[in-house]
Amino acid sequence: MVQQFLKRRAEILEKTDPDRIYVENIRSFFRIPYTVARFFCEMAVKEKFFKKKVGVFCSNEDCRRLIKSYDSRSEIKDEIICDICEDLEKEKFVFVKEDIEIVEFYQLVK
Ligand SMILES: [Zn+2]
Repeated sequence: MVQQFLKRRAEILEKTDPDRIYVENIRSFFRIPYTVARFFCEMAVKEKFFKKKVGVFCSNEDCRRLIKSYDSRSEIKDEIICDICEDLEKEKFVFVKEDIEIVEFYQLVK
C-alpha cells in the first residue's frame, strides 16, 4: 500500500489539495473500502508521509468553511468564532466545541 502510494504520489497531489487530504479522497483514489483507507492514512502518519490535523468547520448552513485547524482535538478551544459570519453579521457566529463540526484530515509532509 505504501509502495503504491509512493508510486502514485504525484498523481494524488495533482488531484487533491496536499494540505487537506481526507480519508474519502484516499478511498476514492485507490478504490478501497473506507476503513482500509483510514487505516492507510494512519499508517502514512506513522511513516511520516502524512500529518494528522483536526479542522473545525462553521456550522452555518451557508458557510461551512474551515475556521481553523489544530494538531489534536485537545487544542480546540471551547468557543470558536467564524470571522466571516461575524463580518456578515449573521445571527450565529460563535460556536461551542460540543456543537461544532470537527473533521479529521491529513496533510502531506513535504
Ligand atoms: Zn461561518
